[in-house]
Amino acid sequence: CGIVGYVGAQSALDVVIAGLKRLEYRGYDSAGVAVLADGGLAAVKKAGKLVNLEKELVGRPLPAGSTGLGHTRWATHGGPTDVNAHPHLDNAGRVAVVHNGIIENFAALRAELAERGHRLESETDTEVVSHLLAEEFPAAGHDLPEAMRRVCRRLEGAFTLVAVHADAPDVVVGARRNSPLVVGVGEGENFLASDVAAFIEHTRSAIELGQDQVVELRRDGVTVTDFHGAPAEVRAYHVDWDA
Ligand code: GLU
Repeated sequence: CGIVGYVGAQSALDVVIAGLKRLEYRGYDSAGVAVLADGGLAAVKKAGKLVNLEKELVGRPLPAGSTGLGHTRWATHGGPTDVNAHPHLDNAGRVAVVHNGIIENFAALRAELAERGHRLESETDTEVVSHLLAEEFPAAGHDLPEAMRRVCRRLEGAFTLVAVHADAPDVVVGARRNSPLVVGVGEGENFLASDVAAFIEHTRSAIELGQDQVVELRRDGVTVTDFHGAPAEVRAYHVDWDA
């Protein structure tokens, strides 16, 4: 339902939680966050409102990091439980993925992953993506954006995806098909969100991702390609409505 990603110099957790609050009006049943810190990845997710997640974070504080993502979920596959909340990780706990939409061919992908030894923990359509990404990066030798492109080429349906990986500590990747994703362009920091409302307090320079595109976000750069790696032309526009 609501997605926020961040890479920069601020606390990713603070930026992400504030952004998710700006998207709360859309409604949701669960929420979660992940940050990269100290060479690892830490995630907390919780059924219920953001205030539940914030309470959980008081008891289980995340290490400080400046790359991260968050999600508010509106369940389509699997009930609104802690386990089904996003982000979804791989078995090694190195990659975190959030998703809006529906992956239509998830059942076939789940079966395939199970055959290759993956243990899927949730009932969501989303979780296949974290496991597929973990097979492509770093093991298969692709970088994280190329891993995302390879995974997207296997997915059917509607999806906005945002992912971080502990082995790419300064990168956030996103992808979209039939579901919106917007980049917020900052100075020394960049944002990803399902809606500009999430980052409007930080920047009013935005790039709307096109159909079937993947974006690589770093502190000082935004690179957009199609699902096959061909560079896409991007043009930032000024968000001039009052939020
Ligand atoms: N289909 C996914 C799920 O049920 C994503 C739902 C959403 O868009 O929030 O977990």
